[in-house]
Amino acid sequence: MSAQEHVDLEGFIEGVKRRNPGQSEFVQAVTEVAQDVFPFIDGKEEYHRWQILRRIAEPDRVVSFRVVWQDDNNEIRVQRGWRVQNNNAIGPYKGGIRFHPSVNESVLKFLAFEQTFKNALTGLPMGGGKGGSNFNPKGKSDHEVMRFCQSFMTELYRHIGADVDVPAGDIGVGGREIGYMFGQYKRITNQFTGVLTGKALEYGGSLIRTEATGYGAVYFLANMLQRTGSGLEGRTAVVSGSGNVATHAAEKLVQLGAKVVTLSDSEGFVHDAEGFDQAKIDWVKAHKTRRRGRISEYVGEYKQAEFHAGKTPWCVPCDVALPCATQNELLGADARTLVANGCTGVAEGANMPTDLEGVHVFKEARILYAPGKAANAGGVAVSGLEMSQNSARMSWKEAELQAMLETIMRDIHERCVEYGNGDGGYVDYVKGANIAGFKKVADAMLAFGVV
Ligand code: NDP
Repeated sequence: MSAQEHVDLEGFIEGVKRRNPGQSEFVQAVTEVAQDVFPFIDGKEEYHRWQILRRIAEPDRVVSFRVVWQDDNNEIRVQRGWRVQNNNAIGPYKGGIRFHPSVNESVLKFLAFEQTFKNALTGLPMGGGKGGSNFNPKGKSDHEVMRFCQSFMTELYRHIGADVDVPAGDIGVGGREIGYMFGQYKRITNQFTGVLTGKALEYGGSLIRTEATGYGAVYFLANMLQRTGSGLEGRTAVVSGSGNVATHAAEKLVQLGAKVVTLSDSEGFVHDAEGFDQAKIDWVKAHKTRRRGRISEYVGEYKQAEFHAGKTPWCVPCDVALPCATQNELLGADARTLVANGCTGVAEGANMPTDLEGVHVFKEARILYAPGKAANAGGVAVSGLEMSQNSARMSWKEAELQAMLETIMRDIHERCVEYGNGDGGYVDYVKGANIAGFKKVADAMLAFGVV
């Protein structure tokens, strides 16, 4: 990188920091993308002149609103809700809704920014958005969750629509919450449209949407390994999280012959050295979703396993690692431990689970490392297919959707290789994903002029 480029990049990042005070997650996400995009646009005058990256890094709009609801003790509770519509150059805004106490504007802006590149990578016509609330569904009754979701949608409905913005689930938002929000949208607008994805099959959902993010991340990992003449058969895998993405990633890993030895939640991780089989994964799914339990209770059911409170699973030796819980859950020191223990492949099921230092460790070690915006795009891809099915008033069969998901993940892998291929055959998947995603959105923006 030349001195001039370096100044430009630094100046750009300084500007992002200045305009977004206290929004560290957003600055982190923009920095990671800018580091790859600046060298790419060097000499491509139109991207500079039209200020394309600067415009993508400024959300089209951020809607913030009050969400008032009543708990089971008739107390009035006040939460904050947001919808960040980052960019709709290539299609309606699309991205999940997160309910978690850690949600704030910075987190949602980073997620909406990332989503813009991820959605472009899928090859489907979807822009980038994200929404959520600092509401904590943990420990709430079904009725409380329902009242909250209804109140949230009573404001959100003004800002979304099947051709405007189509939210989906994310952390803390699964089938139950989508059902309550869809019901309220339908009640207020008197319209039955595909305004949300991740719906149940009975009212317009798509087969394999639930599985798609976790399965897709494993397909991506398998594609990376295959390119180097290797595979998942017999590999030991460490997975974090125990929600939608983690359990389905674990399921697909087991189906493809890998041995999954960990799952986790925000209280710690479970190490089952015998490996999780389908029956154990089914137990975790039922325990975390239907019973809304904790992963620590796994060791009461499966006595050979150990629970490590307050710890993340990256210290367990493995061949491949899949962080599938949340952002910044894998730090530089964890990355060094993984590499030292012989880990050769990392595929991110979660969004930005590895911090910037960790990313550099993986890149320096030249291991296979797939960022979330590429590896976890299978979820939003099948959401895109759910939108198509809703518009056409039809539904595809499971085998058809499975084949489409596998093809989409293979195509994303190829796009990353095209733009990330470096010396000695090493592929920088972060660079590949950032540039491929940027180019598609940027070229659409160029076509629109200054808007
Ligand atoms: P779920 O709510 O189903 O599960 C989240 C899991 O992560 C739970 O095990 C949860 O533990 C754990 N977790 C949450 N916050 C923390 C934290 N601060 N520290 C440690 N563990 C934590 O969410 P999903 O599985 O849907 O989402 C997981 C990740 O995947 C997120 O980054 C999300 O943005 C990303 N993603 C999801 C997609 C989807 O289709 N669902 C699509 C693309 C990306 P606990 O129960 O203790 O909170």
